[in-house]
Amino acid sequence: MTDTLQLVHEFTRAHKTTITRDNGATEYVEVLPLLDQLQEAMTANRGTGGSGSLAKAPVSLNAVDLWQDITRTTAHALTAVPVHAQPATTLGQGIQQWAAWAVNTRNADDEAELNAYLVYWSGQIRAMFEPSVDLEAACPDCGEGFTWSHDGVEYVRRRALSYNQHRATCVVCGQVWEGAGAMMSLARAIHGDTPVEQCA
Ligand SMILES: [Zn+2]
Repeated sequence: MTDTLQLVHEFTRAHKTTITRDNGATEYVEVLPLLDQLQEAMTANRGTGGSGSLAKAPVSLNAVDLWQDITRTTAHALTAVPVHAQPATTLGQGIQQWAAWAVNTRNADDEAELNAYLVYWSGQIRAMFEPSVDLEAACPDCGEGFTWSHDGVEYVRRRALSYNQHRATCVVCGQVWEGAGAMMSLARAIHGDTPVEQCA
């Protein structure tokens, strides 16, 4: 699975990442913590009035739902964490405290659960800013990681799994994971620590 502390880092701190420009050029840039990006997505379209804000409203609403989901889940997770001398005052600090506990317990499920949530939330946040994102894992249903497609000039290899704001799909077998529960099941299937049946 993706390193949990790396996920926490990307979630709560400014970090470097490779982005692809529209012209295909790639660049190594510093980006805001994913939580800050989510906060921007929530507030960017508020109070501006006019028809322009209407078109973007669904993104803002999804961002608010996701923020509330993360807040609730983190608060619940922290009830299992021994009391800290300095209680978390921000959501980012809460997730960091959750992580500091989860990666050090004797129960590997504690970290796996946090990891699955972070993978899912990160995907949701990134999908708000990107039309579609490739997943590096092989499809848990058909086992394929790549497929070949013709781009008009030559055959190019592309990832089998990708997701956007609404669903993940496998272009090889056509499997679709739609909605929060299914996306979480997929994240767990990919990361392989918890039986899918247990997270319904
Ligand atoms: Zn597949």
